[in-house]
Amino acid sequence: MLTSNAHDPSEKKPLTPVAQADSQTTAEVDPSQDDSSALHHSRPAFAAVGPSTAAVHAGEARQKPGFSITDPIFASSTYTFPNTQAIIDFIEEKHPREEYGRYGNPGERVVEQKLAILDGGESAVLFSTGMAALVGLLMAHLNAGEEVIFFDECYHRSREFCRQHLTRFGVGFQEVPTCDYAAMEAAITPRTKFIVSESPTNPHLSVVDIARFADIGRRHGVLTLIDATLCTPYNLQPLAAGVDFVLHSATKYLGGHNDLLAGVVVGSQKKLEPVRHLRGIMGGVNSPHNAYLLERGLKTLALRMERHNTNGMAVARFLESHPRVERVLYPGLESHPFHAVAARTMRGFGGLVTFLLKPHPIAAGPVATTAAIWRQAAQVVDAVQIPRIGPSLGGVESLIEQPMVMSYWNYSPAERAAYRIPDNMIRLACGIEDPADLIADLQQALRTRD
Ligand code: PLP
Repeated sequence: MLTSNAHDPSEKKPLTPVAQADSQTTAEVDPSQDDSSALHHSRPAFAAVGPSTAAVHAGEARQKPGFSITDPIFASSTYTFPNTQAIIDFIEEKHPREEYGRYGNPGERVVEQKLAILDGGESAVLFSTGMAALVGLLMAHLNAGEEVIFFDECYHRSREFCRQHLTRFGVGFQEVPTCDYAAMEAAITPRTKFIVSESPTNPHLSVVDIARFADIGRRHGVLTLIDATLCTPYNLQPLAAGVDFVLHSATKYLGGHNDLLAGVVVGSQKKLEPVRHLRGIMGGVNSPHNAYLLERGLKTLALRMERHNTNGMAVARFLESHPRVERVLYPGLESHPFHAVAARTMRGFGGLVTFLLKPHPIAAGPVATTAAIWRQAAQVVDAVQIPRIGPSLGGVESLIEQPMVMSYWNYSPAERAAYRIPDNMIRLACGIEDPADLIADLQQALRTRD
């Protein structure tokens, strides 16, 4: 599955924290003192280690309050000062520390550092959801009269925000076909400020050549954003390939347990400064409890992604060989139109597998109706025993759904056709269960008939 160009986790450098501009992040500290300031604006530690080590240790103080191995949850909405001079020192940026919960909290800073390191970025800004991260990033950088261009397979709510809301503030919006680099380039005008894509896309799993995408941005002087929710920093490093920003819905693989919502943008300190500032005004932060849940989930990111990758590949191969399956969309399969770029750039291909059910002969015959076709797919969804039926992906529990029903029920057949969502499409987000069990379950579900 891996090619020589893919990032091999075994090729990690020695476990040596990088030189610290602010050495407090890794320094031994007196646990009786408040060391939360160590987490402010310091350069990431553990930037040179492998992703498993970084996921477990990066961003955390070596010694924590109470000699605890885990980070405490500071259940505080505000932070106090010993005296007036301390307030003035803080305002004059002599002593970074917390002030008020809307501007962040110590747990959030730990997660931001961990994610910055995992994604190879200078800085990260954590939001309450992936959508809040997207809205915060675009609002912080776009002005009236400017324009943003998306590849058209991006998350429909992200495009809806631009089409229906950014346009109300005089920001232009265009969509071009996914992975059509010439169309993207042709669409860029002097107004264009941002170009945006996901990779892989959902549910089609198209894979963008990130270096090519970044090159378009650089040559035209526009900012580039990759929503890397489906690949995570474990499977792909978009910043290293040259984009300005990487965004994740941390609700998915980063949290990993279907028990939290969060989002993050990673990039350079300078380009994220206005984003952090706007977040402090608009809110959309993570509560200390939520930040802790995310930190805990992140510790097993590498382990979980290995299993998601294994399960995705095994399930995709099984489905591709099944007589009731018309087509499987999974970038790890040689049959996928973007397999070559995926194999060249990704460590693994993730847990999401999309497949089209072959219409049963009754439905495909003279009495075939649209209803018969989508109902057959619904029967398979309803017949599985292990995956739960629901939206989302990236958690330990497998989830299954039929995009036509879950996300496009209120669209007309013509609109669904335009978005390439056929009635017989099923999306399976493999969790971390045993691959043999998932396959046996699909095997029995695919036996269902009218
Ligand atoms: N980006 C992608 C690729 C998504 O799939 C989603 C949600 O499904 C989002 C962003 C939005 O994330 P959230 O639900 O955390 O707001």
